Amino acid sequence: MSKIIATAAIRGAHKIVERAFEKYEEAVKKFGKEAEIGFPNTAYYLPIIYAMLGYPVKRLGDCEEVLQEAKRLLPEIPSEKTWVPYLGPALDAGMATFFAEEIIEAIRYLENPNFYVKGEDVTEENIWLGAADDVIFRKRGVEFVDGTAPGFAAILGSPPDKETAVRIAQELLEKNLYVFMHDQTNGIYMPYLLKEAGVQLGWPTRLIPFGPEYTSVVFSIGFACRVAMSFGGIKPGDYLGNLLYNKDRTFAFVITFGPVSDEWYANGAGAINWGFPVISDWDIPEIKPYGVCTYEHVVSKVPHEEIVDRAVEVRGLKVTTIKLDIPVAYAPAFEGERVRKDDLYLECGGGRSPAVELLISAPLEEVEDGKIEVIGPEISDVEKLGIKGPPYVLPFAVVVKVAGVNMQPDFEAILERQFHHLINYAQGIMHVGQRNIMWLRISKQAVEKGFQFKHIGKILYAKLRQEYSAIVDKCEVTIYTVEDKVKEVLEMAKRIYAERDARLAGLTDDSVDVFYSCTLCQSFAPNHVCVITPERVGACGAYNWLDGKACYSINPAGPNQPIPKGELIDPVLGQYTGVNEYVKQASRGKVERVSLYSILTDPMTVCGCMECIAAFLPSINGIMIVNRDYLGMTPTGMKFSTLAGMVGGGQVTPGFMGVSKHYITSKRFLSAEGGLLRVVWMPKMLKEELKDRLMERAKELGVPDLIDKIADETVATTEEEVAEYIKKVGHPVLNLPPLM
Ligand code: SF4
Repeated sequence: MSKIIATAAIRGAHKIVERAFEKYEEAVKKFGKEAEIGFPNTAYYLPIIYAMLGYPVKRLGDCEEVLQEAKRLLPEIPSEKTWVPYLGPALDAGMATFFAEEIIEAIRYLENPNFYVKGEDVTEENIWLGAADDVIFRKRGVEFVDGTAPGFAAILGSPPDKETAVRIAQELLEKNLYVFMHDQTNGIYMPYLLKEAGVQLGWPTRLIPFGPEYTSVVFSIGFACRVAMSFGGIKPGDYLGNLLYNKDRTFAFVITFGPVSDEWYANGAGAINWGFPVISDWDIPEIKPYGVCTYEHVVSKVPHEEIVDRAVEVRGLKVTTIKLDIPVAYAPAFEGERVRKDDLYLECGGGRSPAVELLISAPLEEVEDGKIEVIGPEISDVEKLGIKGPPYVLPFAVVVKVAGVNMQPDFEAILERQFHHLINYAQGIMHVGQRNIMWLRISKQAVEKGFQFKHIGKILYAKLRQEYSAIVDKCEVTIYTVEDKVKEVLEMAKRIYAERDARLAGLTDDSVDVFYSCTLCQSFAPNHVCVITPERVGACGAYNWLDGKACYSINPAGPNQPIPKGELIDPVLGQYTGVNEYVKQASRGKVERVSLYSILTDPMTVCGCMECIAAFLPSINGIMIVNRDYLGMTPTGMKFSTLAGMVGGGQVTPGFMGVSKHYITSKRFLSAEGGLLRVVWMPKMLKEELKDRLMERAKELGVPDLIDKIADETVATTEEEVAEYIKKVGHPVLNLPPLM
């Protein structure tokens, strides 16, 4: 390793550890050692320290032991004349840097809880977002596992001007990366340049200003540590597992702009521990041999026009972006972008005009492949037509006709559901809702670049043909923007929606011969298999039986395989010979039997991305359900995150089960134990969200006021309090037979 870099990194680490000690001593004087400390709303404590040392920092006094560990890790600053191998000591210095910086940032939260914005979005007054809480982390972290986001760029400092900042940010986003921003260069902060250029900042647009100081780099690295712990099943304290998981799976790197200080070198050395290389525009020594990183460790003097491509190449990330013939950028990173009132040029639907979207299948000879037609005014016509605006309002209907040898009517709704994200990926275009409650907003910036309705047609045509080539052989798109035509489509669509809904409602576990598997989560929970049936959606809530069927047709060797049911072994538990055989083989012999409808006897494995966890409360004979977004305590004495850590990772734990929200109101929901009548506790927010469906199911069960009899956190958070409550309200569980 370059002696210059190692010396600077070690020197920087010494300064940072010393700074942390000073901060710690000051804070102890002010708050005392018992003061609670940590990043907000997280079960991962200070995540780097927790991931590396397995040590949960909860109180200020806990920091002392960690700082001593950081001090032990600090190597001597190399002397002028001694030449020794430097890589190991520099990496240790980098690790000590992150321990110290997490403590500095945690003390910042203690001293000034409002230093960072709480939530996903920046505000007018404050652009610094600080550590991602567990709600944000869950939502975003899963993208690092499912491939939607291959990794992140941790940026230290800033390009010199807003044009360069915008271009670099855009190039990173087009490669689907998250952009984490830290510190400044010569008083210039990259997020401020982006803001000045009208670029939206925040988690939804993947442009995250973490903090104004270099110490905020720990929010980036901590995020990676949490991905490995939460989705990779890496245990806290398994430092090697965490470093290797990230090296192999999280495609992250550091980009620095301008002169590199000792402290930046120390952070760079820290990031290299995780296999994240450093790419700089400045003239610093390079570290070319491969080793800890997949390829080079430090690459310097990279011109701004090449820095993103070079970083991606050095990190070994292969990006396959498809260029669409449209005038705006197109990438998943733009999905969360909103078109605000001031930026709005034109909108359709959303209660302002009739709007509808529909995908139908037709015989091959009735579809003209590649035909895109706009019937009615184009976006460029609205000014000439004398319509009042901006924002202009037009009626809108998009009808996509597809044909294919393997296309089936059951796939229509699945393909139609893709419109939402496919349209949203276009920069400056916002799509909300679906069917006839869709809402489309086109920004002024997109229109200035030449965006027209026909480009929506081009997007849908290209993406459906490309991503669903196994079932879509031909596709044509017609867009209507005249009211009478839109109303005609609307009537036809309503008829088709009703037919589809009736078809879906008629699907039951008994009416089909095959179920579908999903093994997508095996990348982080190797024994996990979801068995998806018409009445039991996958645990994450994202895959229903029809999705499984369509995904198998699209990718016959993929994670969704048909499972012939075989013989029914036990109708109450929902055990089938075919399901048991399949699960045994797909879990490599680890799981021998699965009951589809029981939480106590051979329940399904729990992965890590379930929407909710159901847990048996033995003293009450009841079941509680907690959803991922609920951060409070549950009657099991554990929060969702602790429960997930305890039962997740592909294990079978009788009494605990990962369930989707949709499954809770299914007739088959834990029917072996009495189903919904057994549910005694749910967070209020979950009751609210499922209210209509819960009430409908409760009526069917003959207890119309069941929802009020189910306790929530406003009346009970311990098993004893739940017991008291259900007695008081006469919950039907009291009449059910005991389970144990
Ligand atoms: S939770 Fe189940 S259905 Fe959802 S992605 Fe994982 S394995 Fe598939």
